[in-house]
Amino acid sequence: MKTHSNKMRVCTALAVLLLIFAISAAALAQAPDKMLTKANIEAAINEAYTKFKDVKEGENASYIKELATVDPNIFGIALVTTDGQVYTAGDIRSMVSIQSVSKVFTMAKVIEEQGHQAVMDKIGVDATGEVFNSITAIERMRGKEINPLVNPGAIASTSLVAGADSSAKWKSILQVHSDFAGRPLALNMPVYISEAGDNLRNQAIAHLLLAYGRMYFDPVQATDIYTKQCAINVSAKDAGIMAATLANGGVNPVTKKKVVSPETVMYTLPVMSTAGLYDDSGIWFYNAGVPAKSGVGGCLIAVVPGKFGIGVVSPPLDKAGNSVKGQLAIKYVIEKLKANPYWIQPK
Ligand code: GLU
Repeated sequence: MKTHSNKMRVCTALAVLLLIFAISAAALAQAPDKMLTKANIEAAINEAYTKFKDVKEGENASYIKELATVDPNIFGIALVTTDGQVYTAGDIRSMVSIQSVSKVFTMAKVIEEQGHQAVMDKIGVDATGEVFNSITAIERMRGKEINPLVNPGAIASTSLVAGADSSAKWKSILQVHSDFAGRPLALNMPVYISEAGDNLRNQAIAHLLLAYGRMYFDPVQATDIYTKQCAINVSAKDAGIMAATLANGGVNPVTKKKVVSPETVMYTLPVMSTAGLYDDSGIWFYNAGVPAKSGVGGCLIAVVPGKFGIGVVSPPLDKAGNSVKGQLAIKYVIEKLKANPYWIQPK
């Protein structure tokens, strides 16, 4: 009898031990998610803001004249989780033109409408290895293998968006940007006018693509719509929600609206990973490990798939054309929250 109850005791102790082991193994596997508490997120973005707010490096873009006049001190950070919590630090009201960050959402729209294969076949997805508005890249590849996140591929994407005429295409592009942001976005008219009067290089790109059979709408009008899409105004909060919609498989986590499909997101994020930060895309990816996209207006978004999106607005850019504070802040937050998807807790 005594031996029997001893055995029982040993069995119970073993079962309890096993349970404890299982629970701690599960907890360890979940460790990075456990980092995403309200307190941790608030601390990370507030620290990033305080640490980098006085950084003076970088300069506003000036090749679009109006961008040179934007207040270089604007600095806002917004982190939005896939369950719709919005965390902000700094100036999240001031708006800048979205510029190249728009390329992501127009590309997603084209994938959504025509499928991912169409983007491969009609535009290309490889990094060109040349500057964002390179004409030699088009020439070298005879219009093929350009990519939607640099100007030639972006203008080609704009030309592919469904719509009977220029105004229908523009309406659709503005709508998808608004859906990603969860509110009606609007055009920054002075930036649009400033760039429209000075975009001969983009016009040349569109015409060269036409010559190679890789422009799918009138090149003058396609360039004009592209210029408009680049002039859409966003705040850091808009940018954070837009990024979070990508992080959440295409459903806006704040409005709950399905903007694009999870498949569309699946094909959009890899191009952001390989070509999101101009010539420094590889350096960014090496250091941060997450898909991101910058624009010359000073907006930078990054996506931690399944977890959160982050948007920063700060106009001064480094030599590669990426927001200086944007990169510093996002890298800091990702590291602090152990959100780099390549940070793997060994089993
Ligand atoms: N509208 C700008 C251009 O085409 C966008 C550049 C950018 O943000 O990379 O030059």
